[in-house]
Amino acid sequence: MIYSNLSPIQFNDPLPDSVDVVIIGAGVIGISTAWFLAKRGISVLVCDKGRVAGEQSSRNWGWIRQQARDPAELPIMMDSINTWQSLSKECDDDIGFTRKGVLYAAKNDREMAAHERWMDIATQHQLDTWLLSGAEVDELIKDKPGQWKGGMFTPSDARAEPFKAVPALARALRNRGGLIRENCAVRSIDMQGGRVTGVITEHGSVKAQSVVCAGGVWSTLFLANLGINLPQIAVRATVARTAPAPDIYQGNVAVSEIAIRRRQDGGYTVAASPQNEHFIGADSFRYFFKFVPALYQSVRFIKLRFGGDVIDRMLPTRRWRDDETTPFEQHRVLNPAPSQKALNSMRQGLKMRFPTLGEIPFEEVWAGMIDVTPDVVPVMDQIESHPGLLLATGFSGHGFGIGPGAGKVMADMVMGNPAVHDLTRFRMSRFSDGSPMVPGPGL
Ligand SMILES: Cc1cc2nc3c(=O)[nH]c(=O)nc-3n(C[C@H](O)[C@H](O)[C@H](O)COP(=O)(O)OP(=O)(O)OC[C@H]3O[C@@H](n4cnc5c(N)ncnc54)[C@H](O)[C@@H]3O)c2cc1C
Repeated sequence: MIYSNLSPIQFNDPLPDSVDVVIIGAGVIGISTAWFLAKRGISVLVCDKGRVAGEQSSRNWGWIRQQARDPAELPIMMDSINTWQSLSKECDDDIGFTRKGVLYAAKNDREMAAHERWMDIATQHQLDTWLLSGAEVDELIKDKPGQWKGGMFTPSDARAEPFKAVPALARALRNRGGLIRENCAVRSIDMQGGRVTGVITEHGSVKAQSVVCAGGVWSTLFLANLGINLPQIAVRATVARTAPAPDIYQGNVAVSEIAIRRRQDGGYTVAASPQNEHFIGADSFRYFFKFVPALYQSVRFIKLRFGGDVIDRMLPTRRWRDDETTPFEQHRVLNPAPSQKALNSMRQGLKMRFPTLGEIPFEEVWAGMIDVTPDVVPVMDQIESHPGLLLATGFSGHGFGIGPGAGKVMADMVMGNPAVHDLTRFRMSRFSDGSPMVPGPGL
């Protein structure tokens, strides 16, 4: 069982007195940021309250996708996919990086028209994205021919095995001298003379010139304790892995009901995007108006639900003292129960769209909580009110692919280097300066 609450600790470096940069969160964003800093000779410590890639970064579908990205993300993503390729050679372990393309198959004219609209962006960025006829889709997918109107296809898109990739990069980081400590919640930051001077962890304090918060769904809570307001909500997404199955398609394919990705172990990773769920809690009300455009756009993809630990969600602890146990220590690894409705939808979707896989058993099922911002694109910025504190969060369901590219962006930002990409869309102030929330293409 890979997606459990607590696997054995693998990274347990002693806390140093001081380090150049502390990174909060050992997901793909935190580890990639640390990797590019360490490569440039900056000393780093990555702390995770639970395990390296214990949350979103091992639970995702493993799609490394340029296709259908927000235009502001695309240049970073195009760099990221090449970076994945080189990282796959720099890591000692095989991370399953394979370029077999991403295909969005369309059943009707309406779906085809949505794909056609994105082609302008692909052309502007000289991406190898093509529109396909139904017959051309049938040549790619060896199952149930004749059901497709057409599709959109980017052959240079890729995949990797998420539960291998980030731990492998973490090991490579450690070989370069980066420090990593699991089971080490960062409770707060230290400030002196109006700027950040370090972090307070459950195991003691560490001095640092800069602190990067890459806390995924926990970032809002971490910042709330510092009096910083970050509108971000959590969305549950359920995934299944099949037993080894006939090879109907080597790449990643999504249709409106279902998405599948060929795995290194000969099975498929399966998900039903329309069954993503947000459980109503205090943040739903706190940030409701900011999320209206995203909810309107994603009405088919995000279901609003009551239930679960509703009291915790309505009355969350948002302030604590540095010597108090925090919610981060109480929830080492967020391991939500998979949704039975989503699993049923996957089974129906497979039978309907990929009948060869219709009866293949699911060998493992799991869920993850996605950190979604009101405009469905991340924040990558410095926090003006807390000089020395930087934030990389809210990758809104597509942060695995862009992870290494975002890590480079954050490493440059920490070092004060000029930005290589236009980062205006990812600024924190967009949530407070009256900017309209214009959602990107989606989760
Ligand atoms: C089911 C699912 C499918 C997805 N599919 C894809 C996909 O195919 N392609 C894609 O590009 N993206 C996908 N995503 C999104 C992608 O996984 C995320 O955007 C990405 O992993 C985010 O990485 P992260 O490092 O920001 O966050 P995370 O991986 O969530 O890591 C954050 C870490 O911070 C730690 N942390 C938080 N607070 C503290 C604290 N105070 N102290 C110490 N540690 C702390 C947490 O324990 C956690 O390990 C998917 C996500 C899910 C859930």
